[in-house]
Amino acid sequence: MNDKTRQASILLIYTGGTIGMVQNQETGRLEPFNFQCLLQHIPEVREVGCRIETVQFEQPLDSADIGPEAWARIARLISDHYAAYDGFVVLHGTDTMAFTASALSFMLENLSKPVILTGSQLPLGMLRTDGKENLLTAIEIAAAREGDFPLIEEVCIFFENDLMRGNRTSKTGADNFNAFHSYNYPALAHAGVTIQYNRPHLYRPILRKPLKPHFTFDTHVALLKLYPGISPRYVETVLGMEGLKGVVLETFGSGNAPSAEWFVKLIREAVEKGIVIVNITQCQTGSVEMQRYETGLHLQENGVISGYDSTTEATITKLMFLFGLGLSPDEVKEYMQCALAGEMSVP
Ligand code: ASP
Repeated sequence: MNDKTRQASILLIYTGGTIGMVQNQETGRLEPFNFQCLLQHIPEVREVGCRIETVQFEQPLDSADIGPEAWARIARLISDHYAAYDGFVVLHGTDTMAFTASALSFMLENLSKPVILTGSQLPLGMLRTDGKENLLTAIEIAAAREGDFPLIEEVCIFFENDLMRGNRTSKTGADNFNAFHSYNYPALAHAGVTIQYNRPHLYRPILRKPLKPHFTFDTHVALLKLYPGISPRYVETVLGMEGLKGVVLETFGSGNAPSAEWFVKLIREAVEKGIVIVNITQCQTGSVEMQRYETGLHLQENGVISGYDSTTEATITKLMFLFGLGLSPDEVKEYMQCALAGEMSVP
């Protein structure tokens, strides 16, 4: 069989989430069901012209319960089956999907096959479900090829009509079908009547090397979101956490923070202790530029580094990932300031 007529092979990994949930008749609550039922709900999956095999978490997880341990399980499933499939579709709860997509983008070094995460806002069993379209299109995208190579060679989220780079994406809607956005990077594809790929923005590995998966994270990190009126005690408690190695500092506007003496001192002392502090903006769009205002400059002068236009999800998972590799604070600082998997635009 030549390559053009060969059926693409896709591994569907079900981790849990609304897409595979049913309503408990007694409590009325949504609960995960057996993955076999998922295929019963969408028999069309078998008709998309791909060889699809499925594997599921023994105990499907609401994505609020997904973290480094589950990320490692997903990465292990992908790497163990990497040679046998053309692409991977990961069904995942929407709540923390952007964190998982970011984590996987760092864990799967040298990835050159599609890993598409999707889920849904309404369970597959419901009449108006968005899960069916999301799943079928995600499979079609994972199977798409151009010449000898897959069209997509990175970790993405497909939701509603858009394919987005996973580590550029955030969940923005609790009840809209259009629940994910990638504000600082264009969509990679739009699914209308046909699927239109945004080719210039697709990630292309410079050299195709064997997949090098990583599985460990170091969770000695914290997220500190600033707000007017933030108390010295609160900042001191976060920065004083035992064993703390890295902090994602969510600042105002283009990377600005209070200039009060107590705040500057706490930041300086934390940096001097070797804690890596990464500045990202609370704004949905745009990038950190610490030289723009005095209230940003003092952070830079005290050793805070820029996370540029990266999302919270990408920054925190990247910090955990880099410390998980056993790197020194200086090495972590260096890697935090360059894009590992297209997660930020460094000017
Ligand atoms: N709580 C669910 C989860 O993230 C919501 C969803 O799947 O959309 O697992």
